Amino acid sequence: MDAIKAGWFSEFSTLWPGQCMSLQIKEILHNKKSKFQDIIVADTMNYGRVLILDGVIQCTERDEFSYQEMITHLPVNSHPDPENVLVIGGGDGGAVRELDKHPAVKNITMCEIDEEVIEVSKKYLPNMSCGFNSKKLKLHIGDGFKFMEENKGKFDVIITDSSDPIGPASSLFEKSYYELMKKALKPGGIVCSQGECIWLHLDIIQDMQNFCKELYPVVDYSYCTIPTYPSGQIGFTLCSLNPVWPFL
Ligand code: SAM
Repeated sequence: MDAIKAGWFSEFSTLWPGQCMSLQIKEILHNKKSKFQDIIVADTMNYGRVLILDGVIQCTERDEFSYQEMITHLPVNSHPDPENVLVIGGGDGGAVRELDKHPAVKNITMCEIDEEVIEVSKKYLPNMSCGFNSKKLKLHIGDGFKFMEENKGKFDVIITDSSDPIGPASSLFEKSYYELMKKALKPGGIVCSQGECIWLHLDIIQDMQNFCKELYPVVDYSYCTIPTYPSGQIGFTLCSLNPVWPFL
């Protein structure tokens, strides 16, 4: 099925069979394939500009704050001293924008697989990509799973701001990735990951909660509402190595 037809973008995916979100498009600003994925940026009638990767909405200018604030401030405000923060993915820059606001966060490391997402965001999504101006930021281009294998005991908080478990992000939803994150954390460290939708992905969420409980003493799930993600809701998988510091 055509994702863009008669001036409307429709978000078809096997991850939400039989339903899809549609946005009326004013103008397509960018439509090219990178080494990793199809990248579209379009101006929409009601949600400002939208970033779409492999046919899936990643963020819109109107409602992105709902997700970006939760995926960053939840773990950072749950940690007593979140000095060193790692972001995996997050190529639009919005997560780094939020972390830069937090006075206790001194160093932000980011590992994004697709440099073209960053370049396109800098050109078309200035309110998110302003995060890349942060003086706290050290940016790596590469695969987040591999980055995790190579870094041990360094981070107070690890945020996985990834796309869905199809394509380049699929390894970031596996138990082996949560094992690697555990090793990359400092004592008492916290993990917060894009954790999918309760209306559509209970099987994925249940599976992740189960294997996380084998690895971390505290595991939780939080969520926000956001109209342009499937079924209007997205969750966050939260894990802590500190057994006496539960999520607030
Ligand atoms: N908030 C969004 C959502 O839930 O759909 C995610 C936004 S952010 C744009 C997702 C980023 O993860 C993309 O830029 C993508 O290139 C990046 N990504 C996907 N797989 C990755 C991997 N294995 N390592 C690092 N970054 C990855």
